[in-house]
Amino acid sequence: MPKTITEQNLRLLIDSLIKEGTRVIGPRRTGTITLYEPLARGEELDLNELPRRSAKEVFFPVCENILSFQRGEEGVKVTDIDPCAFPETVLIGARPCDAAAAPVLDSVFSWDYKDEFFLQRRRKTTVIGLACTTADDACFCSAVGLSPADSKGADLFLTPVREGGYLCEALTDKGKTLITSHARLFAETSAAAPLSLNEPAGVKLDLHKIKGWLDENFESPIWKEIADRCAGCGSCAFLCPACHCFDIVDEGTEAEGHRRKFWDACGFGKFTDHASGHNPRDAQPKRYRNRIMHKFKYYDDKFGQTLCTGCGRCIRWCPVGIDIKAVLEEIQKG
Ligand code: SF4
Ligand code: SF4
Repeated sequence: MPKTITEQNLRLLIDSLIKEGTRVIGPRRTGTITLYEPLARGEELDLNELPRRSAKEVFFPVCENILSFQRGEEGVKVTDIDPCAFPETVLIGARPCDAAAAPVLDSVFSWDYKDEFFLQRRRKTTVIGLACTTADDACFCSAVGLSPADSKGADLFLTPVREGGYLCEALTDKGKTLITSHARLFAETSAAAPLSLNEPAGVKLDLHKIKGWLDENFESPIWKEIADRCAGCGSCAFLCPACHCFDIVDEGTEAEGHRRKFWDACGFGKFTDHASGHNPRDAQPKRYRNRIMHKFKYYDDKFGQTLCTGCGRCIRWCPVGIDIKAVLEEIQKG
């Protein structure tokens, strides 16, 4: 029998989890924007809009220490950060375009090197996904193989229902455990009517055709036409649920410091700057080309997946109005 949860009980679920010592992260209104942030109580959950930044930070923080070092009389002492010590976490209210990005990133973070900083957070996090009832002009999840009702990446998936509250679908053992361990907050139903979901309008993409064009057009004039105005600000990469480039640096003094892993972006001029002074991507169109190639060709070549979930963030917040959806439509024309 399907389960439902009321709005009030969803907030009580958050309160219970926090009381049990679980870290709960969900959309929270902060000033004028909504962000995925740690919640202090259920009341703080705000599911009204897609958070400005994606949920990837739950698994892949903007900046994190991976070890620390101290010079003492007996030499340099290195202390590793233990990823096994990361807290049990519930990510609640992840939209389909955010929840779906996590399993896409699993491929690269568990490929030739197992990145335990990412993978332990994945293991320790239960994802409660949420179907979207509204889409704006920038959304295009349906054009990249997802939909507002897609539960990919979720352990438990919530669909708003007309009567108020949510239909709950447990998709994994983690999702089932969450329900059984808080059974009093869920009800059984045979008659909950899901709210109608608003499919993103307009764009139809043929990802196979787009990849075919990218396979043949590394040196096309289109890159200059599209990307000459790209400011290289990196906003698109930082807001994207699927972009995952990072750098590692040592920070501190001769006496002590940290080795840090932090986000980077292929749109930055220094990203491919070699110590020799040579930069193979020495102009912005080459960098923008790499962004598109990585998402719609290289990641597909390597892992058979597209590195874009159609969240539209890079369209909404690009300061010079570059629209990846329009770029892909242009490419699709051939
Ligand atoms: S490339 Fe743009 S639309 Fe696609 S997932 Fe990233 S931010 Fe969203
Ligand atoms: S957000 Fe726009 S201007 Fe900034 S790097 Fe991305 S495409 Fe270029």
